[in-house]
Amino acid sequence: MVYFYPRGHELHVLPGHPETPERVEAIRAELDRTGLWTPFPQLEALEVPDKVLHRIHQSYLVEFLASSAGLGGRVDADTYLTGESWELAQQAAGGALSVAAAVWQRAAVRGFSLSRPPGHHATPGQAMGFCLLNNVALAAEYLLQNEGAKRVAIIDLDVHHGNGTQDIFYDRDEVLFISTHQWPLYPGTGRLSERGTAGAHGFTLNLPLPPLSGDLAYGTAMQEVILPALADFGPDMLLVSAGFDTHWRDPLANVLLSAGAYGGLVRDLAEFADSYCQGRIAMILEGGYDLEGGAASAAAAVAGLLGKEYDDYLGGSPWEESWDWQRVVDQAADR
Ligand SMILES: [Zn+2]
Repeated sequence: MVYFYPRGHELHVLPGHPETPERVEAIRAELDRTGLWTPFPQLEALEVPDKVLHRIHQSYLVEFLASSAGLGGRVDADTYLTGESWELAQQAAGGALSVAAAVWQRAAVRGFSLSRPPGHHATPGQAMGFCLLNNVALAAEYLLQNEGAKRVAIIDLDVHHGNGTQDIFYDRDEVLFISTHQWPLYPGTGRLSERGTAGAHGFTLNLPLPPLSGDLAYGTAMQEVILPALADFGPDMLLVSAGFDTHWRDPLANVLLSAGAYGGLVRDLAEFADSYCQGRIAMILEGGYDLEGGAASAAAAVAGLLGKEYDDYLGGSPWEESWDWQRVVDQAADR
């Protein structure tokens, strides 16, 4: 197990904004409390090679972000830049590369990059939704270009649709992109019917879950849709866009996943990786805006990666799960 921890990330901050430095610190504290932090090394970020960066992002986005260095600014109503954000965005992406490469090379059995700022909403040409560079997409591209991977699967568990990752790989068949997300919700994409363009049809798979979907919805989606799709694809490695805004306490969304169930989903993916990908699986942090729910979900997820137990002290949702998700999961299972 290896980590990337983003040194200096507290300089990417905007008072009152939900994407706070405390998110990462709460996760680190909970990992530490549960004995999952100190035994494992922290990797330095790799530099993102130009060839990788420019395959994923348009030059005008890179130039725009670089021009904010030392100055800061605003991308849109949701997405801010400080004078340090460009440097930190490159570090967050480089951390994802570093963790993915270590796991690929089997220098570590599992990895978790606490990348911040997050990445999955960043499209080829647009920073948005708190995201500047698409960390998970850059990691996947690095594995393909620099490590000899042929097929990489990205499983996006964040409660929001990973529109940026989808856009980036929509016409490419070396990457399978699977996203579970609340529907309707920001950014408004991620319908079941979005499956990839002609040559890559079927290499994008969306599970738009209605509000009040919870542990049963996610567990069923994993067994009936996600694991079978992964088995059909035959990836060399799994990358998880690990957003923890799925937690029932999260203020920005309304699905009801517990931390313990999140850990179970990651354990399922890790077991798949053990059986079919030589154990290669790494997580990259995305969203999650309730400090306790996010920290508990992250610790449960790391425990799931390692096949350990996590005592989910927050427990399950106090609200009853709706069954409206069944139709979506059935339709997706018929893909
Ligand atoms: Zn999110």
